[in-house]
Amino acid sequence: MQIMNEIEEAEVATVRALPETIDALEQLSWNYWWSWAADGASVFRDLDPEVWDGVEHNARRLLRETPEFRMTRMATDPTFIGRVRKLAEDFKRYMDPAAKVWAADGARSLMHANPVAYFCAEFGIHQSLPLYSGGLGMLAGDHLKSASDLGLPLVAVGLLYHHGYFRQRLRRDGWQEEHYGKIDTDDLPIQLVHDEAGTPLRVELLIRGRGVECQAWRVDVGRVKLYLLDTNLEENHPIDRLITGHLYGGDRETRCVQEMVLGIGGIRLLRKLDIEPHVFHLNEGHSAFLTLELARELTIAGQSFADAAREVRGRCVFTTHTPVAAGHDEFLPSLVEHCFGPEYAESLGLTLAELLDLGRVAAGDEAELFGLTPLALKMCRSTNGVSRIHGAVSRELWKVLWPESTAAETPITHVTNGVHAPTWVAPLIRELYAKHIGPDWCEQECDARRWTDGVERITDEELWRAHRLLKQRLVAFIRHRLYHARVMHGESMLYAEAARTMFEPEALTIGFARRVAAYKRWSLILHDPERLMRLIDHAERPVQLVFAGKAHPQDQGAKQILQQLAQWKLDPRVMRRAVFIQDYDQEIARQLVQSVDVWLNVPRRPLEASGTSGEKVAMNGGLNLSVLDGWWPEGYDGTNGWAVGGAETAAASGAMPDEDARDAESLYRVLEDEVVPTFYDRDATGIPRRWVAMMKRSIETLVPAFNSDRMVQEYARKIYLGESK
Ligand SMILES: *Cc1c(COP(=O)(O)O)cnc(C)c1O
Repeated sequence: MQIMNEIEEAEVATVRALPETIDALEQLSWNYWWSWAADGASVFRDLDPEVWDGVEHNARRLLRETPEFRMTRMATDPTFIGRVRKLAEDFKRYMDPAAKVWAADGARSLMHANPVAYFCAEFGIHQSLPLYSGGLGMLAGDHLKSASDLGLPLVAVGLLYHHGYFRQRLRRDGWQEEHYGKIDTDDLPIQLVHDEAGTPLRVELLIRGRGVECQAWRVDVGRVKLYLLDTNLEENHPIDRLITGHLYGGDRETRCVQEMVLGIGGIRLLRKLDIEPHVFHLNEGHSAFLTLELARELTIAGQSFADAAREVRGRCVFTTHTPVAAGHDEFLPSLVEHCFGPEYAESLGLTLAELLDLGRVAAGDEAELFGLTPLALKMCRSTNGVSRIHGAVSRELWKVLWPESTAAETPITHVTNGVHAPTWVAPLIRELYAKHIGPDWCEQECDARRWTDGVERITDEELWRAHRLLKQRLVAFIRHRLYHARVMHGESMLYAEAARTMFEPEALTIGFARRVAAYKRWSLILHDPERLMRLIDHAERPVQLVFAGKAHPQDQGAKQILQQLAQWKLDPRVMRRAVFIQDYDQEIARQLVQSVDVWLNVPRRPLEASGTSGEKVAMNGGLNLSVLDGWWPEGYDGTNGWAVGGAETAAASGAMPDEDARDAESLYRVLEDEVVPTFYDRDATGIPRRWVAMMKRSIETLVPAFNSDRMVQEYARKIYLGESK
């Protein structure tokens, strides 16, 4: 006994005790709330900026790795002590169960005993938790944060990928290479979930004929708890340990078994946690197997599958996120059979053929693959797309499942995506909002009246000054990144040093950062290289371009696009004015969306379901230059940004073989005739008055509509509490 105590004490001692003046940082570091709180990230950064960058903004590691001398210096700095205390008080107030929240009135019938269960294959909470690849994950992260801010009872379920998503490095010839790190669970603010007896909680599944054990981790995202399933346990077969290895890195079979763990394991986990959700939200089809598991609970209790399915349908809602075929998971019937084995269908009271039919548009068509989208569409009472256009496109795409309805009558609606303002708005702009909209601006994001009045009070000088400062920061960031990328490539010191004077803070800066996928049309801007050259290489009115984005590891075509871009950049005239920042992630996104003048978006219509990066830009005063697809037709009003091309879609007008040429022509014309002249039209004090007026229009018209508080409120009212039960 004596010995045990000593060992325990020794273990505790290896956990570093912080000086008591700033020991609140320990508790704060365990909840990602700090990442969107006012002065949250900056308090952690200021503890030790060098370590902060070295640990890639991981607050847990920062507290462990900050040298003692620095730690004590900050712990005796009255200003810093005051900031830590203020942050801790804000957190306490935020987490207070008696705090006044929107959901207390706005979604009263959703109770904590019966929360929304939100399932997703990826979550983009913060760059220190690399469990996301792009827009879907970011959207899920923003959904959790707004649910937390609004006090909406919600628990989330996902997977803990031990190798996360890949890190991107471009070779000198521009070819993308993928690198997978390994996350260290001790480094992250995640805690193993225990049962009441204090032993780690486990759920078990039968996959490929083998028992697979899963443990679960909990991440606190403000008031919301995110549970992450994990198969990396010694008891498991080595192959099964890798089920939760990589996000989107494996083959079809890996994807199928991952989705079994997410859907089936996720339901079993909620049961063990004694959580009885009011509604299950399938955020994208990846988690659709959960509907089978809910049905199985009923069939093993004696119900018929038909009755069970009806009941399940009453409790599940589905959000589809893309009209692109590759975004809809499909599996060979033999693969489904292999992964599930015969037992699962049996326990549902179904034959294997009947089970397979659930994932097909045409029952009985043995050539058809098993699709998770058809499964979700059949097993959920509500389906929505993520913008008005995407709703219509999805009705068209899936109307076959409702043969008695026309496309217009197909029961698929939409909730347009929004983004979490406190996560995406730069501190300098936050300050302006606090001053002119009000200190509670982030609780009043949807109040259009307040934004119109408040934005009017922001002077041109203030807004332009804040934006210019942010652009200076962006240029410094680009130089820093580029310098290190060149050193990494073993380039000459002369060439590496040249990065330190690249780019101009005062030049018109256009950002283009997104996944490298064919429909996003990365090469559209290069359609006419000479015309583009005249634009960027202009002596008085230069234009500079910032690119960032990852290609899917298996998408060779996308990697070629990246390589072409790298080749184009080799032209010395281009090199001064265009840069590609490697390894696009949340932090790089933040740097870009907070600082660019213009955000370019040129997807092939109607394939951009929503897009959210342009919404982040608008919140920071940047202007959108975008094809009228996704969210933009709902936001654009002729005064708050620009449209590329018309509103017609390929789907509506048949094939449009010259679509690229027409859109490129429109893009160049808008740039030459409107964007560049407006930006460089300065008054005697150097302020582009017409431009700043557009920035204000953009903020006041777009922030109230495209923030994630509006989105989550709409989900609560229209989808979670929707009447059609
Ligand atoms: C916002 C965001 C996205 C989504 O942007 P799109 O407009 O959908 O292309 C993708 N990746 C990161 C890192 C983001 O922050």
